Amino acid sequence: MKPQQVCRRVYQIGGPGITGRRDCCVYLVDGGSQLAIIDAGLGESAPAIVENVRRLGFEPSRVKFLVLTHGHIDHIGGAAYLKESLELCVLAHEGDLPAVEKGDPRLTAAGFYGVNYRPVKVDKVIKGKTESLKVGELTLILLYTPGHTPGSVSPFVDVGGERVLFGQDVHGPFDPAWGSDLKAWRNSMAELLSLNADVLCEGHFGVYRPGEEVRKYIEGYLQRYSR
Ligand SMILES: [Zn+2]
Ligand SMILES: [Zn+2]
Repeated sequence: MKPQQVCRRVYQIGGPGITGRRDCCVYLVDGGSQLAIIDAGLGESAPAIVENVRRLGFEPSRVKFLVLTHGHIDHIGGAAYLKESLELCVLAHEGDLPAVEKGDPRLTAAGFYGVNYRPVKVDKVIKGKTESLKVGELTLILLYTPGHTPGSVSPFVDVGGERVLFGQDVHGPFDPAWGSDLKAWRNSMAELLSLNADVLCEGHFGVYRPGEEVRKYIEGYLQRYSR
């Protein structure tokens, strides 16, 4: 399958059916003069992700940012390659630096996937509850949403009258070995619901819309993990 447009200024350039079934969904945000990639896939398909940027008609050198939503290998495996080949700025939350920068195999879950992780230096460490990132003429808000991992971040952007939320692993799962925290996760999900997003770009299952489907999706998982 080819990379495809999700909505105005947002494309899916990696993930199951596009680059590899073990990749998370990888998204491209087009801010005009600059672009940003959300998550990097498992690693093996990082060159295909760059190629997909080109296939959509964008010059890859315009990609200036890589936002890592959390430190699992299926989201960060391709980060080192993307950083080297595109010379972009890597962003991740401080809570997941032991995974992203140190490559702790327990935290990255790399052993589960049977791949080696090449750690990457984070250029901009996200520390606050919310931080904003200017990507050309768009502003990506990076919302700290711990739970799945200690340093999970959910970026969102308002574009063309729609709010697009990148909720990568809002569905879980949870494992104490990753530092998962269900109580924190429930609070994070309540915050995501309050955003009233119109489009959810999810980490493994693709795109949900309109807003009521986004709400149903998140509420469904809240119910599943209510005990
Ligand atoms: Zn994950
Ligand atoms: Zn994932």
